[in-house]
Amino acid sequence: MSYPSDIIICEYCDSAYHRPQLARNQKATCQRCGGIIARHRMLSIDQALALSVTAALMMAVVCFVPVLFIRVQGQVHSATLLDASLALAQGPIGLMALTVAFATLTVPILQVSMMTWLFAFARKHQRAPGFRWQMRALEALRPWSMLEVFLLGALVSVVKLSGRLDVFPAVGLFALAALSMLIIGLAGRDLPLLWNDAR
Ligand SMILES: [Zn+2]
Repeated sequence: MSYPSDIIICEYCDSAYHRPQLARNQKATCQRCGGIIARHRMLSIDQALALSVTAALMMAVVCFVPVLFIRVQGQVHSATLLDASLALAQGPIGLMALTVAFATLTVPILQVSMMTWLFAFARKHQRAPGFRWQMRALEALRPWSMLEVFLLGALVSVVKLSGRLDVFPAVGLFALAALSMLIIGLAGRDLPLLWNDAR
């Protein structure tokens, strides 16, 4: 295995090019099909790995630390991300609990785990075991990750319920916001660049 390769292949038409030197905000496009073949990397691999590990820590926080506090008749109730799925499972739309758990727990946990694994090997200039299927799985999972939708819902409920109940955002809500941004940033921009890196 060698790194870095001087040749990059257009993923759309398989044309081969010498790796261009790109400045900040620059990207290179394929002369044959116009597809993007290279972008300037926003983060170094070390930075991407550090942010992936941070995302893993944030994931643990949102699973076990309350996202919201609600005070009803003097009693304070808290809700974590996990509680949202469990509460749905006990209600009349129990099947929705599976969908919510998949989109807000299973998919983000898989994304964060696989990104950390891939960036950890990329740091050593290697492709991780299972590189190809994990990169394809991450691309397929991206539309199913709906933490930001959950975040929006939590914010709307804080505003809407504040007139009737005492609703307070908790530490988990801030961790959820950070986690959503980390996953979107890492999975959307820097991760696909690994195809051109380690071989
Ligand atoms: Zn092309």
